[in-house]
Amino acid sequence: MAISNTHGVAAAALFALGAIAPALAEAPLSYTNEIALGVYSFGGGNGYHSMFLVTDDGVAVFETVNTAHASELLTAIKEVTDQPVKYAFHSHNHWDHSGGGKVFQDVGAETVMHSDAAAWLAAHPGQETSPPDEIWDGNEKTYKLGGKTIELHHLGLNHGLGMTVFVLPDSKTAYIADLVTPNRVMFTIAPDFNIREWERSLDEIMELNFDVAVCSHNELPPAEVVKGCTKEHVQASGQYIEDLRAAIFKGFETEAGPEEVVANISLPQYAHWGHYDDWLQMNAWRVMLDLWMGPYPWYPQN
Ligand SMILES: [Zn+2]
Repeated sequence: MAISNTHGVAAAALFALGAIAPALAEAPLSYTNEIALGVYSFGGGNGYHSMFLVTDDGVAVFETVNTAHASELLTAIKEVTDQPVKYAFHSHNHWDHSGGGKVFQDVGAETVMHSDAAAWLAAHPGQETSPPDEIWDGNEKTYKLGGKTIELHHLGLNHGLGMTVFVLPDSKTAYIADLVTPNRVMFTIAPDFNIREWERSLDEIMELNFDVAVCSHNELPPAEVVKGCTKEHVQASGQYIEDLRAAIFKGFETEAGPEEVVANISLPQYAHWGHYDDWLQMNAWRVMLDLWMGPYPWYPQN
């Protein structure tokens, strides 16, 4: 899909990145791109990606990230439409995703967050977080805006608290935070992930009604980043976990102990993924210790 109405910095970054030095080509991309009719992906140039839906009755934003990101996102929205922002939806509790809501509250939008995330943030407010205007409960909720449907899916324990996947069935698009990271290995020691429940959630995401999604982190080549991610990337994220676990078990057949298994871990089929060299061993420690010592976080009802 063509790049539409990309904002100033974005256009410069996007078109420059295709032609200049490889070192710069790895810099996170700033862009706005219409991935489906009225649905836009937005890159903040900071490694975080948001999404917004434009309707005849206002705009819905998915993932505010932080104050600077949210301000640039609001500018990008104003370059696409005069419609006011009515909702800003938060995906989960982590500070690096849930900041910046006040930018949209200040222009009259209501921020929306799952009760589990809201409870944690009430107890652990971040410097750039603000109490949500609407708190929802349970596993599913539907909003309507300008005749378009917005589905909220809380798939239970996987990563963080109150993790919500958003689906726009009219355009078969979705927003997925942290659970799917195209072309990138797991983040360091996979903090606040329950690995098995993460895999279950990926299977459930495969069944949701979308073809294209915006993933909060995405290390695909620049020309692909702007298009978002697909179920191919959901599947790949799950496959990576399976392959890593299999490599750990294989390592124990020949290596002396866990330190040697981790030191010699190798998954060459993922060597082109972002942070393969610096995070693979941390990923291996986490998946191995999750098996040996039990998953964390964990709750009795799960
Ligand atoms: Zn997170």
